Amino acid sequence: MNLELDGKTVIVTGGARGIGAAIVRALAAEGARAIIIDRERALAETLLKEVNAGASGCMFVEADLVDVAACRSAVVEAERVAGRVHAVVNNAGVNDGVGLATGTPDQFVASLERNLVHYYVIAQCALPSLVAARGAIVNIASKVALTGQGNTSGYAAAKGGILALTREWAVELAPSGVRVNAVVPAEVMTPLYHQWLDTFPDPGAKLADITRRIPLGQRMTTSEEIASAVLFLLSARASHITGQHIHVDGGYVHLDRAMP
Ligand code: NAP
Repeated sequence: MNLELDGKTVIVTGGARGIGAAIVRALAAEGARAIIIDRERALAETLLKEVNAGASGCMFVEADLVDVAACRSAVVEAERVAGRVHAVVNNAGVNDGVGLATGTPDQFVASLERNLVHYYVIAQCALPSLVAARGAIVNIASKVALTGQGNTSGYAAAKGGILALTREWAVELAPSGVRVNAVVPAEVMTPLYHQWLDTFPDPGAKLADITRRIPLGQRMTTSEEIASAVLFLLSARASHITGQHIHVDGGYVHLDRAMP
């Protein structure tokens, strides 16, 4: 299947590691130029060495996405170097555990800044380019938007907001031909996930308990499986798909959990 991503420029926030890095690798393999916006310079440079060996022209712009001005400059820099941006993958985020009983209003707002506000800012800054290219946006959400998790109000609100914005932007941008979709992961083994597992007294037992409940294969989703869905949604093969929330989770959210 020809995805027709060859030569396209795609911003990937949080592209230095985890799911974002898998998306960058997959884009480079398709001949697309990924622009990584992240704060992890060393990781991004190592990844760039790997993908640019195939002469993909991928690049890194260092920015802390909670800083609105830094988001703006990052998009301007991406456009200066790469020309038109064809697509945006809003991916950076952190499950930061700001609870209802334990958090503060300031911490709640800060969580929204870490997980939601930059999705809006990056999309808005890239919008003229996206419209000119009749491009696409893919927003990475989380199952927490739909299932809850407990003790993570900021992250849950942000991820719910991302699903709402996906539909809102799909409507607003349909006349411009810009498609907007969300990918909803549940349990993906990444550095972020590892960090979370390590907060339990027995991370191995916790992992076994989680994977036991994943219907398809009783295993974690891989970052590459998330990346495949993202690339499809970005591609010309998804040319009539917009406003969708695609769950890539082995059936974790929607299938009956009372399994044998
Ligand atoms: P990860 O392994 O922590 O990678 C995220 C990358 O984004 C890191 O390089 C991180 O840098 C960067 N980043 C985060 N906040 C940033 C900021 N404010 N400015 C610049 N860079 C920033 O995370 P992941 O597991 O791949 O998660 C990616 C996305 O998938 C997130 O939106 C997450 O909510 C979502 N998700 C993941 C899972 C899962 O099971 N892993 C499940 C559901 C949803 P630092 O290391 O410096 O923070």
